[in-house]
Amino acid sequence: MNQVRCPTCQAPMSFQARSEWPDFPFCSLKCRRVDLNRWFKESYRVGGDESPSEKDLPAEDDS
Ligand SMILES: [Zn+2]
Repeated sequence: MNQVRCPTCQAPMSFQARSEWPDFPFCSLKCRRVDLNRWFKESYRVGGDESPSEKDLPAEDDS
C-alpha cells in the first residue's frame, strides 16, 4: 500500500521489498545515477563556498 516517489523523476512507485529493489529509493538505475551526480556536484560547490567565507570571518581570538 505504501506509495514511494522516485527522488529524481518523482514517478510514483508501489513499494516493493528492498531485496527486490536494488535501486531503492530510485525507480531505476538511471535515476539513481542522476541523483548521485547531483549530490557530488553539490558537495563540490559547498566545499568551494566554504573556503572563501572562512577567510572573510574576522579573527575572534585576539581579545
Ligand atoms: Zn525515477
